Amino acid sequence: MEHRHLGRSGLMISEITYGNWLTHGESVARDAALACVRAALDAGITTFDTADVYAMGAAEELLGEALRGVRRESVEIATKVCLPTGDGPNDRGLSRKHVMESCHASLRRLGTDYVDLYQAHRFDDGTPLDETLIAFDDLVRQGKVRYLGVSEWTAPQLRSALDLAGELGLRDRIVANQPQYNMLWRVIEPEVLPLCRAEGIGQIAFQPLAQGVLTGKYHPGRPAPAGSRADRDGRSPVFVRRVLGDHLLQRVQRLRPIADEVGRSMAQLAVAWVLNRPGVCAALIGASRPEQVTENAGAAGLRLPDDVLRRIDEVLGD
Ligand code: NDP
Repeated sequence: MEHRHLGRSGLMISEITYGNWLTHGESVARDAALACVRAALDAGITTFDTADVYAMGAAEELLGEALRGVRRESVEIATKVCLPTGDGPNDRGLSRKHVMESCHASLRRLGTDYVDLYQAHRFDDGTPLDETLIAFDDLVRQGKVRYLGVSEWTAPQLRSALDLAGELGLRDRIVANQPQYNMLWRVIEPEVLPLCRAEGIGQIAFQPLAQGVLTGKYHPGRPAPAGSRADRDGRSPVFVRRVLGDHLLQRVQRLRPIADEVGRSMAQLAVAWVLNRPGVCAALIGASRPEQVTENAGAAGLRLPDDVLRRIDEVLGD
């Protein structure tokens, strides 16, 4: 497993990072969740991502349990705040009150004194940006957070935060952005990526497999495989279905010969594609079974030649 700098910071994170949205505390049983974390550690993954909102805190608890006994200095733990964690008016957003309370609750659930990366899960236009930035900065000063990041912020939102942090003289700037980014979803390329590259903000690209679609296991005209995310009830299929149209699935199947040619699985090709994009520090994978973690982690260090990247663009651009 290779490690990369998180943006312009000195923090090294594993280029494949493991996250537990929709799995720990939800679709995956406790033992399987613990086994996935063990498989990640065995594969050399040291960076783990979760959020206060995942399974309403249960995902953080499971991650904390899975990492118990692991030397704290040997792993990087990232979590997030902003999305609703309760019904109260202050159980969401990026107010000073919620940021402080949510961070303390995350630390308690994770069983740690600090997180390495604390991320604003979304932008909150109901809170003055300076209030959020100062609250985040205070958490760093208090030793509860090491580095700051955001998720799914637009380029103008990032620009405002960077400018304001400068005006306020805050020492700790945002060094990470966590966007959805994969072969099928390249929204960050025109604006967010160039800004982040210029400002030293690294991308932790989530859903490199488009929730499993890029593994090639969903076929046009066929039902989703039993037990897969798209097959399950609940809220997750709504997300997956967005990318389950037959035309798109046909194009995804046309990636298979390219994966065969480079001697890798389609999942590994998809993860490697993300890792080959400039400005990306890590591909943030999810997994429902330990074997998936091991397979996906096999993309570490895989560099794709230019002609392979070009052919992927051709296949998906059709
Ligand atoms: P992925 O695109 O990595 O999808 C993971 C799912 O794909 C697995 O649960 C599994 O589903 C399937 N899969 C994975 N590997 C394989 C394989 N080798 N073969 C077959 N199927 C496979 O991303 P996720 O949606 O899980 O998200 C990853 C992480 O990104 C999250 O845990 C979270 O940390 C972060 N995230 C952040 C968000 C944000 O707003 N910042 C939003 C969403 C995610 P199954 O087998 O059940 O079909």
